[in-house]
Amino acid sequence: MRIETQCLHEGYTPKNGEPRVMPIVQSTTYVYDSTDDVAAVFDDPTKSLIYSRFENPTTDAVEKKLAALEGGVAAMCTSSGQAATLISILNICSAGDSFVASSSIYGGTINLFSVTLAKMGIECIYVDVDASEEELMAAFKPNTKAMFGETIANPALTVLDIEKWARVAHANGVPLIVDNTFATPYLCRPIEWGADIVMHSTSKYLDGHAVQVGGAIIDSGKFDFTNGKFPGLTEPDESYHGIIYTEKYPAAPYITKARMQLMRDFGCYPAAHSSFLLNLGIETLAVRMDRYCENALKVAKFIEDSGYANFVSYPGLESDKYNYLAKKYLPKGTSGVISFSIKGGRDNAVKFMDSLKLASNEVHVADIRTCVLHPASATHRQLTDEQLVAAGIDGGLIRFSVGLENVEDIIEDVERGFAAIGK
Ligand SMILES: *Cc1c(COP(=O)(O)O)cnc(C)c1O
Repeated sequence: MRIETQCLHEGYTPKNGEPRVMPIVQSTTYVYDSTDDVAAVFDDPTKSLIYSRFENPTTDAVEKKLAALEGGVAAMCTSSGQAATLISILNICSAGDSFVASSSIYGGTINLFSVTLAKMGIECIYVDVDASEEELMAAFKPNTKAMFGETIANPALTVLDIEKWARVAHANGVPLIVDNTFATPYLCRPIEWGADIVMHSTSKYLDGHAVQVGGAIIDSGKFDFTNGKFPGLTEPDESYHGIIYTEKYPAAPYITKARMQLMRDFGCYPAAHSSFLLNLGIETLAVRMDRYCENALKVAKFIEDSGYANFVSYPGLESDKYNYLAKKYLPKGTSGVISFSIKGGRDNAVKFMDSLKLASNEVHVADIRTCVLHPASATHRQLTDEQLVAAGIDGGLIRFSVGLENVEDIIEDVERGFAAIGK
């Protein structure tokens, strides 16, 4: 199946007389005939369902769909994108380990990496998203266990050179984890370029309608964890009667461990109802993404030509620094999100934003409705000035998330904002 068809048909195929739509299985638990049957489920929890803290049929259908869309072998949904990021790292890094991450990533991820993971004894080594292969190699330490970057970074809109990062990760015997939230598998499939693990905030385009907060981790099944660096996967798990993930689950040891150990212990699993809503969003992903990209390119060109912006970041623009990478990794388009720095800095950014009538001011992005955010006073408020610069953000920066309205209406709204600033 091609991706448009997969969005509709992967994950759930009703049998004779069954519901057309995957039902919401609103049950915390599952019934067995005997204690022996229950014991068997505990011996191999991947064979049938135990408890909805870490598995549920409605969510399972979405997991299968996401794995298929990304070209992976298995996936696990989480109750937020943050939970997906946390588990993607904790699944292979323990106290005393480090990992290398692009500094051009989501602000919430920077907080998680710099503060919370640091408190747990895991060091994040930041590198510039444009670092050369030599610079990336030099960032590694003997205890480095992973690399992490965003396909299209939120909000800096840098594009990750996935092939280069995968090459460096593999030369060092570690997996590359890619946050593919903004691109979605419709615009880019990082696994095809060498990524080993893909993760998402499904709260953004995958849902698309701003109705559920969620995340997902997809395992390519391609990375060999038996090179001695990952004892958590290759040595007996005492919390699971001594199983060895790479031996018992060779097809997808990473995601099996994430579910059986970390999800069991953390319980940050989505509710079935959320997964049902997420699935509705994914069904229309392909048509929505085409329109977001088409609208955003027109709006980005309009802002660029207006003379009101110091710069416009949109990888789809010919003038954009990342256009050459976008042509390679994102040939269908570069999503609906535009960042631009308004001339006159913070004051004019506020004037512009407060005069918009169609675009709503909200802490969200990738919605079907056009929305707008001032990162320096919202999502990135906790960052120091140096971190802001490293994340590509200044006081005049506006993140403009183009929706599915008629593009003329969106452009008229931008004109209204510029008019409020005056020449
Ligand atoms: C929003 C976002 C996250 C965090 O996801 P939540 O669902 O809000 O927890 C992580 N990465 C990226 C790129 C995001 O845009």
